Amino acid sequence: MTSDPTETIAAITRRAAEDYARVLDELIDLVTIPSVSNASFDPAHLSTSAHAVADLLRDAGLDSARVVTATTADGRVSRPAVLAHRPGPDGAPTVLLYAHHDVQPPGETADWSIDDPFIPERRGERLFGRGAADDKAGIMAHVGALRALGDDLPVGVTVFVEGEEEIGSPTFHDFLTQYQDDLAADVIVVADSTNWAIGTPSLTTSLRGMAQVEVTVTAAHHAVHSGVFGGPSLDAVTLASRLIATLHDDDGSVAVGGLHAVENDLVHYDEAEFRRGAGLVDSLRLAGTGSIASRLWSKPALAVIGLDATSVARSSNTLIPACTFVLSLRVAPGQDPREAADMLVAHLTAHAPFGAEVAARITEAGPGFDGSERTEALDAAEWALAQAWGSAAVHQGMGGSIPFISDLKQVFPDAQILVTGVEDPDSRAHSADESLHVGEHAKAVLAEALLLARLGGIA
Ligand SMILES: [Zn+2]
Repeated sequence: MTSDPTETIAAITRRAAEDYARVLDELIDLVTIPSVSNASFDPAHLSTSAHAVADLLRDAGLDSARVVTATTADGRVSRPAVLAHRPGPDGAPTVLLYAHHDVQPPGETADWSIDDPFIPERRGERLFGRGAADDKAGIMAHVGALRALGDDLPVGVTVFVEGEEEIGSPTFHDFLTQYQDDLAADVIVVADSTNWAIGTPSLTTSLRGMAQVEVTVTAAHHAVHSGVFGGPSLDAVTLASRLIATLHDDDGSVAVGGLHAVENDLVHYDEAEFRRGAGLVDSLRLAGTGSIASRLWSKPALAVIGLDATSVARSSNTLIPACTFVLSLRVAPGQDPREAADMLVAHLTAHAPFGAEVAARITEAGPGFDGSERTEALDAAEWALAQAWGSAAVHQGMGGSIPFISDLKQVFPDAQILVTGVEDPDSRAHSADESLHVGEHAKAVLAEALLLARLGGIA
C-alpha cells in the first residue's frame, strides 16, 4: 500500500466496496445457524456458529483463530467463544474487536413477516432474520474490515467473539481474567450498538449504571378488620404509596439526595419520537427537567418494577399489614451505583411514613460507562465514521446498561473503549422482524477498516 494517506483511504474504500457482497453472503450463512444461547435451546448450534466464526477469521488472515471456553471458580463452563490474534508491526497499538455470535430466541415465528427467523430474507435495503443485526452484523463488520486491510493491517488485532451476551454474559469476568494476556489491548472496539439514524453514525459514549432495591413496609404484625381497626391506623399499601411518592419532586425529577445529574445539550432527542417509542398516552406529561437526552442518559431515573400486595380477586375488608416492592434505579454515568443505592436506602428509611417499619436491601448493582473523554482513539473513530458516512457521528447515550462494558473497563482500565453501531432505529433487535440496513452496514465495515488504518498511522 502507498504511503500517501489519501491514496490509502481510497484503496481501503475500494476494497471494502468490492468485498461487501461476500460479507453479506457470509452474514446470511451465519444467520442460518440458530445460535440461541438461552438454556432451553440446543447448545450444539452455538458450537457450530463459533466454528463458523473461527473459519471466517482464519480466512481473514488471523490464523490463530480458535474456539475456547472459560471455567469459573465454581466449575461452570462458558458457552463457546472465539479468540483470534494477529500481531502488528513493532510498536503498533493492539486493538481488541468484540462482538457476540449468540442470539436471542426467535419468539413466535408467526410474529415475523418472513417464514423462518433463521432463513434470512432481503427486502429492499433490509436483511431480515434473527441475529442479522444483533450481533452477527458486528462479527461481519470485523471480518470485512480485516479483509479490506489485508496484509496492510497496520495494528495488532485481537478478535473476541462471545457466545453468551444475550443471557447477560454470566462468565464474562472469568473469561476476561482467564484470557487476560490474550485479550490485552490499547483500544477496544465493541460493535454491538446502534446508530442514531439512517445516514447518521454514532458512538455510544455513555451508559447509565443501575441498582435494584427491595423494600418492605410493615404497619402491623398481622392483618385486621378494616372496619374495626381502620381510621387510626393506615394499611401498608397506603403507607408504601406515600413512601414511593417521596421519591420524585412535583415535576417528576428524582428527589433522592446525592444522586448525580448531568445536562446533555449536545443531542436533540425529539419529544414526539420519544413519546411514540415509549407508547405514552396522549395526555401524559413528561417528568423531569432539561433535555430529553439528559433525562434518558445522564440523569437518574427511578421506577417501581414490582409490588406484592393482596390481589383484587382476593381483596376483603382487611387492613394489609405489610407490602413489598422493588425499585429500579438508573444512575448517571460515573456515579458508583452502590453509593447511589445506599443514598436511596437512606432516603427510604428517613421518609418512613407514620413511623412504619421500612426495611430496604440492595439486590443488584452494576456500573455505567462514560467514554466521552477526548483521546486519540475517540478522534480516530469520529474521523473514520465521518469519512464512511459523510456526516458527523452523534455521541449517544443509552439509558440501559451493557454489563460487559463495565467488566471490560474493570479488567482493562487503561484501554479506550469505543462502542460502535451496526443497528439503526428500525433494527428491532430482540424482537420479531429483526433486520439490518445493508447500506448502513457496508458503511460500518468501511468505518472500522478506516479506524484501524488511522490507529495504525497509515490513514
Ligand atoms: Zn448484542
